[in-house]
Amino acid sequence: MVKRRVSLFGATGSIGQSTVDLLKRHADKFEVVTVAANSRATELAKIAIDLSAQRAIVCDESTIADLRYALSGKNIEVSGGENALLEAASEKVDLVIMAISGAAGLRATFAAAETGADLALANKESIVCAGNLLMRKLQASRARLLPVDSEHNALFQILDGRDQSALQKVTLTASGGPFRNWSAEKIAAATPEDALAHPVWNMGEKISIDCATLINKGLELIEAQHIFALKPEQLDVLVHPQSTVHAFVSYSDGSVLAQMAKPDMRVAISACLSWPQRLASGVESLDLAKLQSLTFEQPDLQKFPCLKLVRSVMQQGGALPCILNAANEIAVSAFLRKAIGFNDIYRIIAATLENTQTQSLQKAFVALEDVLQTDRESRRIAASLLPYSEANLQRAIA
Ligand code: NDP
Ligand code: MG
Repeated sequence: MVKRRVSLFGATGSIGQSTVDLLKRHADKFEVVTVAANSRATELAKIAIDLSAQRAIVCDESTIADLRYALSGKNIEVSGGENALLEAASEKVDLVIMAISGAAGLRATFAAAETGADLALANKESIVCAGNLLMRKLQASRARLLPVDSEHNALFQILDGRDQSALQKVTLTASGGPFRNWSAEKIAAATPEDALAHPVWNMGEKISIDCATLINKGLELIEAQHIFALKPEQLDVLVHPQSTVHAFVSYSDGSVLAQMAKPDMRVAISACLSWPQRLASGVESLDLAKLQSLTFEQPDLQKFPCLKLVRSVMQQGGALPCILNAANEIAVSAFLRKAIGFNDIYRIIAATLENTQTQSLQKAFVALEDVLQTDRESRRIAASLLPYSEANLQRAIA
């Protein structure tokens, strides 16, 4: 059997580790070309050895020496720096798994999209910032986009090339995050530790905070809009604390099709690794008789204003999603450093959107460089709002 040649970017992260687990289970089916991370060189070296990868890359050049040391005598090529990362992403393989977190993954995602390889995309920020451009790039290279995000993977499985003319509505489910049952007062005082304690999923820090503010679900609406060519009004969110139904599609004849699975990212990743075949993922099937109940409720937009904000940004489109994403990344990292409070995340994003004077906010980007420039500029504006006291921030908004 011919092995599929795969490269894994963001190998040391949460999605990366789940992917490593699957690649190890199915070592007879995959040949690993590149594994890459940012700076966790020792962890990356272990992954490279476990997967018999041909090459390991750290983006942060200051950690190359550690990587080289950890891989000495292993016959695994070692390199570092963004250029090395982009060169590896540009190498044609059969499947690229893109699991870098944040807009830091934009260039590598675009480089991989140009090769025409199947692209298993976890890096939702690339689609949020540059959805139109990325979809065009994938079309031009005839690359197949395989969504890793569990809701989008669910939709991909449900739609599976079916005619979408009778599709009325697509609903993404949200667990509701750690603060679903918290009062607004308690949420205002939430710490990073509180916000990182997700009730269902075990994820990287940035997306965990995004789940606590519910902005993650908003980013996912934009993600679905681009991947499945949907109108904003066709997209909806319901809170479903059991995280068993990941998404569902409503058709004009009254049918609703849903995808269900235990909340384990290996289900979605394994579908990406082998679609349209299925791979044993190590995740048990659902025992429906044991499921006590599945509940669905409307999200509380008062307590979680970020979701409302993204909806309006999605409607307006243009550069706004990229600005929102950049401000969110700055605010989340400041919150994790305890430089700001939980509700300041929303305030910083709203203030950045208000303070951005881009002439052509509504205009679609024409090149990746435009996206990167908007990302940089929006980060600068968001960062200029830090650090501050509550009063300073209010002044900045006003
Ligand atoms: P983690 O923070 O756990 O991992 C991020 C990975 O990206 C690490 O391998 C990190 O390397 C690497 N990385 C960060 N910056 C760079 C850079 N500049 N160059 C190269 N590599 C870099 O994130 P997650 O795995 O949780 O999330 C990854 C992506 O998947 C995100 O876009 C997220 O939104 C999406 N996603 C995640 C889900 C999950 O369950 N975790 C679910 C759905 C989507 P290092 O370790 O060296 O820092
Ligand atoms: Mg998701």
